Amino acid sequence: MEAVFKLPCDEQHPPQAEDFQEKQDQNSKLSAGVKKDIEKLYEAVPQLVNVFKIKEKIGEGTFSSVYLATAQLHTGNEEKLALKHLIPTSHPLRIAAELQCLTVAGGQDNVMGVKYCFRRNDHVVIVMPYLEHESFLDILNSLSFEEVREYMFNLLKALRRIHHFGIVHRDVKPSNFLYNRRLKEYALVDFGLAQGTPDTKIELLKAAHSEDQEGSCSQNYPTSASGNGASVSVPATKQAATKAAEKRPSSLSKTQIKQGRGGKEDSVQHSVQRSVFGERNFNVYSSTYQENSSTKLIKQSKMTDVSSRRLVTKKKIISTKTVSNGAARKAASGCPLNLICGCYATDRVCSVCLSRCQQVAPRAGTPGFRAPEVLTKCPTQTTAIDMWSAGIVFLSLLSGRYPFYKASDDLTALAQIMTVRGSRETIQAAKTFGKSVLCTQVVPAQNLRTLCEKLRGTNSSCKRSQGEAPSKAVSDSASPLAADKPCPETLGKQPHCITSSQEGDGALEIKAADPKGWDQVPDEAYDLLDKLLDLNPATRITAQEALLHPFFKDMRP
Ligand code: ADP
Ligand code: MG
Ligand code: ZN
Repeated sequence: MEAVFKLPCDEQHPPQAEDFQEKQDQNSKLSAGVKKDIEKLYEAVPQLVNVFKIKEKIGEGTFSSVYLATAQLHTGNEEKLALKHLIPTSHPLRIAAELQCLTVAGGQDNVMGVKYCFRRNDHVVIVMPYLEHESFLDILNSLSFEEVREYMFNLLKALRRIHHFGIVHRDVKPSNFLYNRRLKEYALVDFGLAQGTPDTKIELLKAAHSEDQEGSCSQNYPTSASGNGASVSVPATKQAATKAAEKRPSSLSKTQIKQGRGGKEDSVQHSVQRSVFGERNFNVYSSTYQENSSTKLIKQSKMTDVSSRRLVTKKKIISTKTVSNGAARKAASGCPLNLICGCYATDRVCSVCLSRCQQVAPRAGTPGFRAPEVLTKCPTQTTAIDMWSAGIVFLSLLSGRYPFYKASDDLTALAQIMTVRGSRETIQAAKTFGKSVLCTQVVPAQNLRTLCEKLRGTNSSCKRSQGEAPSKAVSDSASPLAADKPCPETLGKQPHCITSSQEGDGALEIKAADPKGWDQVPDEAYDLLDKLLDLNPATRITAQEALLHPFFKDMRP
């Protein structure tokens, strides 16, 4: 695996006192907390001391901390690097799989590569090229339409590459797709949740894949990590996998994590057992969750009033429930089916259903980006789930709203999808993958152009595509939640229409061009969006097909 270099200094030796002193001086501008974290990292992985100057912390999630560091090159130049320090409780195989995704698929087509990997005991640090990048929210409303087109093209290119290797990323969202606006550079990062397709070319995802499929509906925790990536040529990693597995076989299967504290998931407050493969967020099979998920009133408490463009509060309750269709349930869950359900077609869940075991299905990711088949726990999930997430990113870019959906749980997320794609359509699509969804209310599908133009504040009289429904297509009840977004009133620079008579001369109507091109969004954009947000994963557009879509006609895939 030529991408992973083991440095000569990748040995364990105690750091020198003066090394620490030097770091100390250079870090004087950092906050005390970050300084301490950097010191701890040097102590935990002392090999880093001689190679890198860790400058600052650039990311912190539940499962890793990412630092900016520099390394002195032979040429005398400094190279900037990103150091991802994984939490020591990460499963060794999970770490190895993340690293293998980077080494095998990375380094090309906007997929982040890897330079080195360091390990000492249970501490693993992945060293990647550093890509300086923008905060999505900061730039969202200053992007031109052309920049959005390029952004989507490059995201799809990255997805085509990883899907070609049989990698399902499972957490496609702006913070995992780095974008350097000035250099027009892009990088898909974070394979911490990735899973393999049945024919994946990533050896370690095969292991993860088959273990996932073996899961039963009872609590399912491997008792030992087999480290069965025997044929895998990731030196540092394999070592990490086996050594760490030897070291703490039982702690892995018993790890308790608290959810909802600033990690990727909001709102799940109970502590849950952590599944070993893939679902580092909450692939929960606990009974607490079972109750939560099966009876849920979906409250849409914050509605976006598109005419005033302000968030207003309006209570609307849509109740949804998903049930596996008989056949799919039999096939997938292995749960007792001889008792008679008394809740079908009601908005209650009977005791028979409450006592059913949870269907095993991967549920990793971030609720607002999850595809309908993920939200309804369809056991067979494909690369199509990443395409849905890309569609949600595109929806944010076209509407200027981020996050577009902000849901604390899966059924709320599903109800929010219905408000844009239609309840009947969602229910119909769910049938195709063996799920019955019940919804107390019928909400119509919205016209995507109308929706995006309203949310963005584009005066759609500037350009209206043929056959466009009038603005009433965006009903109050059907607006997405976008609570984090700054009020659009503050944005100022919106395209507007002027007529020549306003300017005081002839009768010809002249349209002022929006310099950002938002008055010229072609129908192809919304056609592609529609195909990415196809509720049915079987017909959803693939990355390969999307790159050939007329929306990108003058770009070379
Ligand atoms: P996590 O699993 O904790 O989400 P990520 O791999 O997504 O970890 O990294 C977290 C953040 O760190 C990213 O959102 C990004 O801001 C930053 N980051 C990660 N890798 C790089 C990199 N190679 N270059 C620059 N920044 C990076
Ligand atoms: Mg991430
Ligand atoms: Zn029932």
